[in-house]
Amino acid sequence: MVEMSLEMKEKRDHLLRESAKKIASTKVAKRAAEIDAEGVFPRDIAELFFQQGFLSVMLSEEYGGMDGDITAFCIIAEEIAYACGSSSLMILAHSVGLMPLMMGGNDEQKKRFYERVAKDHALAAFALTEPEAGSDAASLKTTAVLEGDHYILNGSKCFVTNGGAADLYAVFVTTRPGERTKGISVFMVEKDTQGVTIGKREEKLGMRGSDTTDLIFENAVVPKENLVGAEGGGWELAMMTLNLSRPAIGAQAVGIAQGALDFAIDYADKRIQFGQKLADFQGVQFMLADMAMQVEAARAVVYKAATLLDQKVYERDRMSAIGVDKLSAMAKCFASDAAMRVTVDAVQILGGYGYLKDYPVERMMRDAKVTQIFEGSNQVQRVIIARNLLRRA
Ligand SMILES: Cc1cc2nc3c(=O)[nH]c(=O)nc-3n(C[C@H](O)[C@H](O)[C@H](O)COP(=O)(O)OP(=O)(O)OC[C@H]3O[C@@H](n4cnc5c(N)ncnc54)[C@H](O)[C@@H]3O)c2cc1C
Repeated sequence: MVEMSLEMKEKRDHLLRESAKKIASTKVAKRAAEIDAEGVFPRDIAELFFQQGFLSVMLSEEYGGMDGDITAFCIIAEEIAYACGSSSLMILAHSVGLMPLMMGGNDEQKKRFYERVAKDHALAAFALTEPEAGSDAASLKTTAVLEGDHYILNGSKCFVTNGGAADLYAVFVTTRPGERTKGISVFMVEKDTQGVTIGKREEKLGMRGSDTTDLIFENAVVPKENLVGAEGGGWELAMMTLNLSRPAIGAQAVGIAQGALDFAIDYADKRIQFGQKLADFQGVQFMLADMAMQVEAARAVVYKAATLLDQKVYERDRMSAIGVDKLSAMAKCFASDAAMRVTVDAVQILGGYGYLKDYPVERMMRDAKVTQIFEGSNQVQRVIIARNLLRRA
């Protein structure tokens, strides 16, 4: 990969932000309410994102990608989330699904799966959570047993974002049951694999156009060439993936919050009560000022974490040495808590109209909620931060 100067990177990031903003405002924004109301995965938007290169960030440059540049990933997530949370979540889950491969895959695997993404527009997903293994992901029960040239997978995953729409899944299993983190391995599994079925599609509070499903493995036959990294190396790849992706969840939260704030500002500047604009009441001005401070502070920590990760500090030892895992957790946790507060306040500023589906802020509030839950709940992020502060393994 050619090293980019700081100036070139800033220019690239600026152009990327402008292009994501344009796609968000001209194409995605007008579909957002419909996507939410129908609760159907927007395939037209997925195709648009493939064409724009928004789903190639994790690919190496020879496939038109950005070699996993986290700042670029955050910019796209933020700008698309400004218009539509569900659409940005599609990008997040796809990129997160490719991260174990990006960090742990061999050249043959990267070529094979990157080609599927670049040429066939294959969508990816990340399957870690199980019904009995949420925050305690290391207790997962899905097994993989080597039989000749294949592993046989049995078990089920839940809450898989892009579940039914994806073509490729990064699936975390145990190859040594009972050994928790030491027994976890990760496979790239293709959708049409014998023994793999898509299970229940969830009805959700928010992110309603995101496809959230179960994924079931019944004697699923996966070639041993699809094992990413070493047997037992899956936990480390999962943790490295989450460290890389959490700033992008934070960026998504920033985008949602900025969307709600901007809408509330416009509304307050137009709505007249007591013979004056809402925006002329100091009580409303103070709310807007607090909302704006939270959005800016969240954006700052998100891009600080992203910048550190882009210095390729995500090799495990260096990552904990400089506290990137702490900063990554802070970015996700702070930004998602901010987004929840800001979107609730945006609804408040619109009064009764904020509670109606005629206006986008109630959707933004519902979409913001899950950013506090997935990719490790915000309680789990606080555990990571505190552990780091207290220097415990
Ligand atoms: C819309 C959506 C999309 C998702 N997408 C994906 C995906 O693509 N891939 C995937 O693998 N997973 C996905 N998830 C799953 C998500 O990551 C989990 O829901 C999350 O990690 C929490 O697990 P849980 O739901 O089992 O909650 P639990 O682990 O049961 O936690 C319940 C509550 O207890 C708290 N809690 C748990 N442990 C502790 C602790 N040690 N200290 C303090 N509090 C604690 C939690 O913070 C939470 O408030 C998704 C979830 C949702 C809702």
